[in-house]
Amino acid sequence: MSDSPPVRYRILPVQPDAHLFEVACTVADPAPRGQAFSLPAWIPGSYMVRDFARNVVWLRAACDGRPVSVEKTDKQTWRCAPCDGPLTLTYEVYAGELSVRAAHLDTTHGYFNGTGVFILPDGREGRECVVDILPPPGEAYRDWRVATAMATDGARPHGFGSYRAGDYEELVDHPVEMGRFSLAGFEACGVPHEVAITGRHRADMDRLCKDLTRICEHQVRLFGEPAPMGRYLFLVMAVGEGYGGLEHRASTSLICCREDLPRASEAKVGEGYRRFLGLCSHEYFHTWNVKRIRPAAFTPYDLSRETHTRLLWAFEGITSYYDELILTRTGLIPPESYLELLGRTATRVWRGSGRFKQSLTESSFDAWTKFYKQDENAPNAIVSYYAKGALVALALDLTLRRHTAGGCSLDDVMRLLWQRYGRTGVGVPEDGVEAIAAEVAGVSLQGFFDQALRGTQDLPLADLLGDVGVSFQLRPTESQEDKGGKPAADIEAGPRPTLGLRATADAGGARVTHVFDGGAAQVAGLSAGDLVVAVDGIRADNQNLEKRIASYPVGARVQVHVFRRDELTALEAELRAAPADTCVLSLVPAVDEATEARRKAWLGG
Ligand code: ZN
Repeated sequence: MSDSPPVRYRILPVQPDAHLFEVACTVADPAPRGQAFSLPAWIPGSYMVRDFARNVVWLRAACDGRPVSVEKTDKQTWRCAPCDGPLTLTYEVYAGELSVRAAHLDTTHGYFNGTGVFILPDGREGRECVVDILPPPGEAYRDWRVATAMATDGARPHGFGSYRAGDYEELVDHPVEMGRFSLAGFEACGVPHEVAITGRHRADMDRLCKDLTRICEHQVRLFGEPAPMGRYLFLVMAVGEGYGGLEHRASTSLICCREDLPRASEAKVGEGYRRFLGLCSHEYFHTWNVKRIRPAAFTPYDLSRETHTRLLWAFEGITSYYDELILTRTGLIPPESYLELLGRTATRVWRGSGRFKQSLTESSFDAWTKFYKQDENAPNAIVSYYAKGALVALALDLTLRRHTAGGCSLDDVMRLLWQRYGRTGVGVPEDGVEAIAAEVAGVSLQGFFDQALRGTQDLPLADLLGDVGVSFQLRPTESQEDKGGKPAADIEAGPRPTLGLRATADAGGARVTHVFDGGAAQVAGLSAGDLVVAVDGIRADNQNLEKRIASYPVGARVQVHVFRRDELTALEAELRAAPADTCVLSLVPAVDEATEARRKAWLGG
C-alpha cells in the first residue's frame, strides 16, 4: 500500500424523475501542470465502443471552493487548469439506458456501472478509491437499499454510505443497484452469496438459492477450492421481455424475463428457468474465465479504445460450453435436455454460411465491428465466437478424452489455465490456451486448432460425439420458430420448399430481415428490407408466408410481390428445398459399457 491519498467519489441520484446522477470526484494532489480526467469508451465484457462520456450533461471544476477552468481535449477527456490543493470535478450523468452495461435511474430504482459514472483522474489508475453512495433526496426513497459486491468503508450492509475499492479497475468492476429489491442469500463452499432481484416478480427465492448453490459449488470445485472471491452477488433485473448478463469479479448483472424465474409450484426445470440458470451459470463461470484468467491484451484493460484479441472464442466459447453442461452435471436438467440445448447451439452455427468465410480467431478479433455491430448480412458473413466457440470447446473436450483414454479433459485445461494465469494474474498470451491444451493432451494439437480456430470447415462433431454414445444428425428446418435440438415434429414430411429468408411481422406484410446465401429469395432478387405483400397474387403476411410457400412443391416458380421502399415490384422465385441445417443430438440407446462409462464421465451422474 502506498501513502498516496485515495481518489474520492460521491454519487447522488439527484433527480430520479429526470434520470440524473450527480457525481463528484476529488483528487487531493492534482498534477501540477493541470489534471486531466477521462471516462471509459467501453465496459469490460462487452466489446463495443459505447462512449460513456456522451452522457455527461455538464461538468465543472473547483479548488478549495474556487472555480477552475476546464477544457475538453477529446470525446472523453477533460483537462483542468493547474491549481494548488484538492481539485473536485462535479458533473451530471444522464442514466436512461436499462441494460447491464450502462446506468439507469428512475423513480423505481437506480443502477450503475462505474465505467459510465466514475471519471478517472489521469495517472491515478492504481490509487485506492473511496465512494460515498447517497440516497435520492426526499422521503419517497427512505426505504431504498443498496446491493453491490464493493467492500464497505463504513456503510452498513445494504446501506447507503461509504464504500471502497483498491484501484480504479476494481471500482468500475462492482456494479451498484439501489432501490427496493428482494434479497436472499446462501453459502457455496464457504463463500457467502446473495441474490437481489429488482422489478416485479413472483420468484421462489428459496428454490433459486438451492439451485444456484449446486451450480456455484460445482464451479468452485471444478477450478479448485478456495474460491477466488470473498463474497458474490447475483444482481437481477426482472422485466417483461429481456435477456442478458455481464460478468464481474465478485458479482454479475443479469436482466431476465420475470416468467423465467422459478415458481414455488413448479417442481421441474422448465424451458424459461433453464435459460435463466444457464445465464447465471455462464456469468459465474466468468469469475474465473475472463475476469481472472484474462487475455494478455486485457492485462490491464485499456478502456480508452478498442482492444483486440484472437482469444474471445476461449473466454466466451468455453464459458458457453460449460454453462449448460454444468446444469446437467449437477443434475438440474436431464442429459436429454442438455443435448437439446447443445443441438440448438450447433444449429445456430450450421444455419449461417458465414461460418465458411470467417474463422473463430477472426470473429474474436473483429468482435468490436462485426459481432457487436451485426447487420442484415451477418448470417452470410460472420460466425459467432460464442456458438462456434462452444462447439470447439466440446470438440476439444472430446478430443482430449480420446487422446488420453479418458485420463484428461477440458476440466484439466481450465484448472491449469487457472493455476498458471488466473492465480498469478499473468495475462494469457494469444497462443496460451492452445499451448496449455497441448500440455494436458501430451501430444501436439496443432492440426486440431488449425482447423477449429483458423479454418472454416465444419467440426467433426458426429465422429467425436460417437465416443460418448451421442448421435449428431442434421435435418431441414421446419419453420422460423424451429430452433433445432429436437427431432422433426413431422418425420413423414418430404423435402420442404423454402424461400431462404427470415422475416418479421410488419403492417401489411412480412418484412424481410435476412436473405440467405444461395437461397431462392437471393436468386430471385429479394432484399432485406423488402415488404412481402403477396405470393402468386394472394395476400401474404409473416403469419401465413411459410404456410403459403409450403403448399408448393420444391422447384415451383412463384410470383412474389414486394414493396421495396415505396415501389411495388413483382419477382419470380424458384423454390428450393430447405437445407439440412438443423442439428439434433440424442443419446444412442443401449451402448456398450465403455461408451456408457465415457458418457458418464462427460455428463456426470
Ligand atoms: Zn460471457
